[in-house]
Amino acid sequence: MAFGRITQKDWYKILGAEPSDSLTELKRKYQKLILLYHPDKQSADVSAGEVEERVQRFIEIDQAWKILGNEETKKEYDLQQREDNLTKEWPLHAQIYLEDMAWNEGEQCYTLLCRCGGNYTVSKTETKEVSLVCCDTCSLVIEILQ
Ligand SMILES: [Zn+2]
Repeated sequence: MAFGRITQKDWYKILGAEPSDSLTELKRKYQKLILLYHPDKQSADVSAGEVEERVQRFIEIDQAWKILGNEETKKEYDLQQREDNLTKEWPLHAQIYLEDMAWNEGEQCYTLLCRCGGNYTVSKTETKEVSLVCCDTCSLVIEILQ
């Protein structure tokens, strides 16, 4: 499915935090983790693969804090998360009455604008047998009610 936006990492989860945590709480969790995963703090007997994994974690934790530790970027991220959640809640199968679709006299078909900017199109001859219509641009489907 094309969402047009790269899904961001869950920075809160990376810090083991909740979106409702205060900045002080976030900082406390970040500091605890960053110490735990700091490359200088690793014991010599861990395998190379483990070291690599820990370095990756360390980088992620650092990135998470860069975003969540700054009021401005945190606000931006929170907003985007909320938008993404709204998108996920949007039903894949919307039910639409044929009369709620726009009639296109020239093309002899019913059309409905999809939220992606594409169109659902049902030609007049199809209306009797077709009940599910795919968007011509994205993968959303609507059900036509008669
Ligand atoms: Zn669409």
